[in-house]
Amino acid sequence: MRITSRSACVIITACSLWLAACETSPTGRSQLMLFPEDKVQAMGVQAYREMKQKLPSVDDPEVTSYVHCVAEAITRVIPEKYGETNWEVTVFASDQVNAFALPGGKIGVYSGLLEVAQTPAQLATVIAHEVGHVLAQHANERLSTNFATQVGLNVLSIAVGAGGFLNRQTLALLGLGAQVGIILPFSRTQESAADTIGQKLMARAGFNPRQSIMLWQNMRKAGGARPPQFLSTHPSPSTRIDDLRDQLPEAMNLYERAQFEGRNPQCKPPRAG
Ligand SMILES: [Zn+2]
Repeated sequence: MRITSRSACVIITACSLWLAACETSPTGRSQLMLFPEDKVQAMGVQAYREMKQKLPSVDDPEVTSYVHCVAEAITRVIPEKYGETNWEVTVFASDQVNAFALPGGKIGVYSGLLEVAQTPAQLATVIAHEVGHVLAQHANERLSTNFATQVGLNVLSIAVGAGGFLNRQTLALLGLGAQVGIILPFSRTQESAADTIGQKLMARAGFNPRQSIMLWQNMRKAGGARPPQFLSTHPSPSTRIDDLRDQLPEAMNLYERAQFEGRNPQCKPPRAG
């Protein structure tokens, strides 16, 4: 077969586009990234705005200041290379046992989560896990994998539905699957990456990483007849508890260092009832 200079050029261009679209995740994995990150962040910001329009937020200052205290302790220790420094936190009034974080620096916690995440460190576990998905750009990776089959179409216009709102599939791909009723879990690989990043992040913030194991034990207990919404899009607690235990020594080192350096957040849980 003779390769003309024109077709060679096409091949080289295609390859370099492909390479440009491949990035390395914080856990060292190669990821397909077709979307410019600022576009994914804009989608995250829009999805968050839509959530806030739909759901009432909690105005009990005891609850909001508690959740803010935990979330801010975590976002404060995110390494600078990730850029986003201005994270917004909302506590939604809902019985859902769930939380999410979106690209563009947005965090949502449902008040129902506080029934299962019973200590500041357990709440930190869930928030840091969700933030882990954002830092590892899992939304971009999911959107990219999903839209890779539709090359040639304007992928951004696919993401937005009628009336300028993000369509349900895009919301689910961004990580709001349980919220829009599309069960679309992150992959196992993405979940364990978020667990690893999250456990280190909570430890660096000064929350005892041992509590991450207790959180998953509580989630499992809360399972029963009506499993927490969080579990509908997440692998079973038992599988992740083993991994978190394996990674505990490294996280404990980070935790001890945080204590030594004076990071010891005192977040006061709201009184029960
Ligand atoms: Zn997750």
